[in-house]
Amino acid sequence: MSEAMFIETFVVFLGACIGSFLNVCIVRLPKEQSVISPGSHCMSCNKPVAWFDNIPLLSYLALGGKCRYCKTRYSVRYFFIELLTAVAFWGFYKIFGFSALTAAYWVMVSGFIVATFVDFEYRIIPDEVSVGGMFVGFALSLFIPEMHGLVSQGTQSGQWLIHLKSLGLSLLGALAGGGSIYAMTMIGNSFIPRSMRQIEHATKEEFTDALHPLKPEIIEGLWDNMVRSGYMNDNGDILQVFWDVKKADDLQFDPQYAQYKRKIFRTVMMDTTGGGDVKLMGMVGAFMGWKLSLLTFFLAPFFGATYGIIEKLRTKDSAIAYGPFLVLGALMSLFYGEKIMLFILSGYSVH
Ligand SMILES: [Zn+2]
Repeated sequence: MSEAMFIETFVVFLGACIGSFLNVCIVRLPKEQSVISPGSHCMSCNKPVAWFDNIPLLSYLALGGKCRYCKTRYSVRYFFIELLTAVAFWGFYKIFGFSALTAAYWVMVSGFIVATFVDFEYRIIPDEVSVGGMFVGFALSLFIPEMHGLVSQGTQSGQWLIHLKSLGLSLLGALAGGGSIYAMTMIGNSFIPRSMRQIEHATKEEFTDALHPLKPEIIEGLWDNMVRSGYMNDNGDILQVFWDVKKADDLQFDPQYAQYKRKIFRTVMMDTTGGGDVKLMGMVGAFMGWKLSLLTFFLAPFFGATYGIIEKLRTKDSAIAYGPFLVLGALMSLFYGEKIMLFILSGYSVH
């Protein structure tokens, strides 16, 4: 085996292993469970998965996508995400070589994959990915100036300035990315009358659906808390006392439910600010800088609108997850950003 082929095989295997871990993140992060322990186990018979049954891609094929013991069928999504991650790792390697820059993009795309699949399923983006990813983006930018088109030149004097500049561009990127989408939703919301955005009444099923994926006992507790605090009656009618509350922190909740104040407030107010999207765009900016994150902001609606129209026709539900389209826009910007910007600029300057 040649050295080049050895590296490519290694990259694909590494990607599949990371993909296997991303599967765990996608299942556990939205349920606020640890991604470290317990180890992988069958969700049906609870038997731990032995290491030889946990080899990415291969084990799924060998076992035909079923549990070795109880034969429960596992979603093909597990296999697909391992494959997708492996292909993505290989693709970045082919474009950017075996470099620190590639490693940075591997981290970024791993976050993108988790954000995409969690958002599609739960309409949330875990903070571990968006906020965590943003800070990782800052740190990597400090060490890898190539992320922002700067060249580090070994140990020459004045080298630290390049690294500081890279960090600065990363901070600016997070600000531009998060700020652009925050401003847009603020403006958008101001056109919708407040009353049209509020839930006046929620059955227990609707309440449970809206707070998915919180644990049932927590949802039950929150319902009781809402009733006891006079925000809601037993039938699920939201009462005036709730509307008088000006901000989430002012809600009177038992201490164990304090962390859900914001979620309840958002849900009942049907606040479409989508803090998750703002934070995800902060992460995009931290990795890609202000130009490409602004381009992402402008590209994402095209993907989102197309999909949204199809979904609306299909399900009559227009509230779609936006994160996956931000991810799509970010990847388009990363690979074709220069061409797209050149095209736009020349279109405006050359007649
Ligand atoms: Zn099983």
